[in-house]
Amino acid sequence: MRIGIDLDGTIADNFDLLVQTFNEYCGKSLQGKDIKQYSLCKTYNITEEEFNRLMDKKEEGIIMSSPLIPFAREKINQLVKEGWEVHIITARHPKYRDITENWLQNKGVPYSGLHLLNSHDKLELCRELKVRCMIEDNVHNAYQLADGGVNVILFEAPHNKCWPWQGIRCRSWLEIYQYIVNQWHS
Ligand SMILES: [Mg+2]
Repeated sequence: MRIGIDLDGTIADNFDLLVQTFNEYCGKSLQGKDIKQYSLCKTYNITEEEFNRLMDKKEEGIIMSSPLIPFAREKINQLVKEGWEVHIITARHPKYRDITENWLQNKGVPYSGLHLLNSHDKLELCRELKVRCMIEDNVHNAYQLADGGVNVILFEAPHNKCWPWQGIRCRSWLEIYQYIVNQWHS
């Protein structure tokens, strides 16, 4: 059984570091809970060019210093022990492959495949891999995947909390694990 797992915001807790980075750049003092949409361009009212320029400077540091989402390591390890093949599917640029592999190894997160797509379009790969489900915090990715027939577990975050979602929504890795066990381990 294969499972797809997003990385940023789902395994790597990069959200506070991102907010801090954009607060510094824009001279604002937003808190995580103030971010009600995925797009930081819209939240901070900056152009995509500015966003990309800032991320070019800061993304490597954010990737390397992000902590783990609580219980991600424990529960992903448990899934692997129970026979799941884990594919980490991320919109990160492939130029970050080495530091991403190092981070995952240092944090003790096991996986069979690591896919750096440089795109938020994960549908084709999820279909190709025939994942039983994809765990994702970006609600726009979740909409696209669900429309395309992929099971999605939406990992709750401040930026998706107010968005409608008909599917499964989990608030922690404990809930995610429990859902998977109930759904596929019987
Ligand atoms: Mg994410």
